[in-house]
Amino acid sequence: MKSGFVNIFGKPNAGKSTLLNALMGEKMAIVSPKVQTTRHRIKAILSGKDYQIIFSDTPGIIEPKYKLHEKMMQAVKGSLEDADIALLMLDMNEDFEESNRLFTAMHLKVPAIVVLNKADKANEEQHQKATEFFRKQPYCKKLVVLSALKNKGIDYLLEKIVSMLPEGAPFYEGDDLSDLPTKFFVGEMIREKIYQLFGDEIPYHTTVLVQEFKEKTTLIKIGADIIVQRDTQKGIILGEGGKMIKKIGTEARKDIEAFLGSKVFLELFVKVRPKWRDNEMQLKEYGY
Ligand code: GDP
Ligand code: MG
Repeated sequence: MKSGFVNIFGKPNAGKSTLLNALMGEKMAIVSPKVQTTRHRIKAILSGKDYQIIFSDTPGIIEPKYKLHEKMMQAVKGSLEDADIALLMLDMNEDFEESNRLFTAMHLKVPAIVVLNKADKANEEQHQKATEFFRKQPYCKKLVVLSALKNKGIDYLLEKIVSMLPEGAPFYEGDDLSDLPTKFFVGEMIREKIYQLFGDEIPYHTTVLVQEFKEKTTLIKIGADIIVQRDTQKGIILGEGGKMIKKIGTEARKDIEAFLGSKVFLELFVKVRPKWRDNEMQLKEYGY
């Protein structure tokens, strides 16, 4: 039996959350083309016949600007310190010097697999240049080229991970997919819709707090607050005659029902909490 912790690092948009979902075959992490979608560390548990891998997806690596950002970077640092294997991930179509600087600056003590993602978009020349470049780097123990989005190369990566895992008994029993409460994933699915439906600044000023989660006989009743900073943002989230919030609710409910395998009654409320991003207490309450 082999078991251990595998952490996924990389610049925002490298495809970390997409990879996690592909590895798990489930929608564990929310995905969007906007940076900073992932605010928490997501832990996902993949149990095979003779292995257990605990993956964690990290927020993208950025300069802390607000208190919220500081918390996010603490989460990144935390995951640097407790992994058995690091996956260092990048979009292979982008300038790889920057990712290289980042990976070098981490001074990793754990073995790393460099994951060159978005192979579906890369041409032969780019492919060759990137693999040659990263093979030479001292932190690169193994190198895998894949497409997280197209689900290509995922099994190969899994094989490499298992071969590098330490021997040991599983850390988690049963068939739980995560150590995070279901409520957390429900909140994330609502947050994802906000990212998808609103442009510009709105998603960054918003967080979601699931207040009620009750399993009834035929359905699960969920109540959640969408927290914004200003009245104007509340108006935007609500939309004309409540059009937008209805849309968020309908789309989120579909995902939540698929995730929970149950019918769901979802109620959403919009609340204004000025400066929630800078308020230590409120960040705690919201789980950061
Ligand atoms: P993260 O910030 O590293 O977690 O990145 P995400 O997983 O949220 O992905 C960022 C964007 O890249 C999303 O629009 C994904 O659909 C896209 N993406 C991820 N993997 C691939 C891939 O293999 N190929 C292509 N073409 N796009 C990808
Ligand atoms: Mg992400």
